[in-house]
Amino acid sequence: MKGQESMERVWKQRGSALLLGAAVLLAMTGCSGQAASGEVIQSPPQETVTPPPAQEEQPPQTSEEQEGTDVKPSQEEEAGKPAEAAPQEQGTSEQEEIPAGLDLEVVAEPASMAVLVNKQHKLPESYEPPDLVFPNVPYLLPEKSERRKMRQEAATALEQMFAAAKADGIQLAGVSAYRPHAYQKDLFNRYVKKDGLEKARTYSAYPGTSEHETGLAIDISGIDGKCAASSCFAGTKEAIWLAENAADYGFIVRYPEGKEAITGYIYEPWHMRYVGVETSKAIVESGLTMEEYFGIAPVSSQNP
Ligand SMILES: [Zn+2]
Repeated sequence: MKGQESMERVWKQRGSALLLGAAVLLAMTGCSGQAASGEVIQSPPQETVTPPPAQEEQPPQTSEEQEGTDVKPSQEEEAGKPAEAAPQEQGTSEQEEIPAGLDLEVVAEPASMAVLVNKQHKLPESYEPPDLVFPNVPYLLPEKSERRKMRQEAATALEQMFAAAKADGIQLAGVSAYRPHAYQKDLFNRYVKKDGLEKARTYSAYPGTSEHETGLAIDISGIDGKCAASSCFAGTKEAIWLAENAADYGFIVRYPEGKEAITGYIYEPWHMRYVGVETSKAIVESGLTMEEYFGIAPVSSQNP
């Protein structure tokens, strides 16, 4: 596989410097999360929610990649162990110390291809994507990394999309896809321990509120890895190709430009979300964000 070979070459040449850069980038973006109420809200995503009065204080408009992904491969990961083994804090009581109370709905159908996860809509605590596989596309990640994974349907669509891009002379690479809940949780709890809950929430995703935990989201860059999960990806030929063609394969640019107040995230031309072809085409044709399309209140209208 030519793509694989060239990817490996890039990998060897850039080595840890590239990954370190990506790790820093990823560590610096991210959604501020909310405390979980823990209750499961049964309302379907189509239900129209009346937005409460706008808060005078906007939530921090952060990048989704702040999720606290320590992309730098650990020795274990390079040796073939799964990537999700985030350092464990001693004891688990810390998790219970995170105060509930902020308005955070738990999504009713986490396994739906069109599930809406954002700063106000959290995956259930016990949810694990049921059918994760390794998509056969180039990645800027070690071969065995858990973060390559996507759910089966999304993975197949991703392979088709990468092949179509290649046929158009566009060589794409996966930066990061699935993030295990336990990883996100351990990471967030470490941040809480270090900086306190309020501060941690401004730069790291509250566990369960990252789209990457669904197995339906992937950050994509060009094969050279330049501008991976970074604002300079905007305007590149890869970003333009994705914006124009992704919907044909069931993907959308989840955090469009100028919609920060609705999605809660800055423009992320690299963050692609699989929703299924019908939905992706409908969303793109509507010109709406996923929140607007499903009648979900803008993130900025609720407590940050
Ligand atoms: Zn992302």
